[in-house]
Amino acid sequence: MTRKMAVCHPESPHQSHGLCPRCAMQKYYVENKEILRASRRRNPTSDMLFAAKRRARAKGLEFTITKSDIVIPEFCPILGIKLAVNGGGGRVADGSPSLDRIDASRGYVPGNIAVISYKANAIKSFGTVEEHRRIADWMESMKQPHPAGAL
Ligand SMILES: [Zn+2]
Repeated sequence: MTRKMAVCHPESPHQSHGLCPRCAMQKYYVENKEILRASRRRNPTSDMLFAAKRRARAKGLEFTITKSDIVIPEFCPILGIKLAVNGGGGRVADGSPSLDRIDASRGYVPGNIAVISYKANAIKSFGTVEEHRRIADWMESMKQPHPAGAL
């Protein structure tokens, strides 16, 4: 029995199983969503490498790191919070591992990257060493003394 399969995008070349490559890939992602998500959670370095490569290209930064350069510690080396990919929920959280360029003026090169928490990276990205020091000093100096009898 020969039955002509329905074609999703007849104008698209390389039809296979009635789907163009794009729709076939989309179907694959939908059908394997959980498996793909689980594998990302187990092995997030590929994702991080891919995303970093994209950022490097967009910003014109040097990019010479490989997957083995990305080492995810158990805890954020700055804030000490536990690092966990997505916290299982598919969205970025404070403890999501994030690839930091230690010296922001340099690219993704071996020796210039560290995996820190998303939160630490977000804070760090906004200022220089001197600015962060001033912020911390100011926060410290503005602390209200404990009201009498509170302790
Ligand atoms: Zn299609």
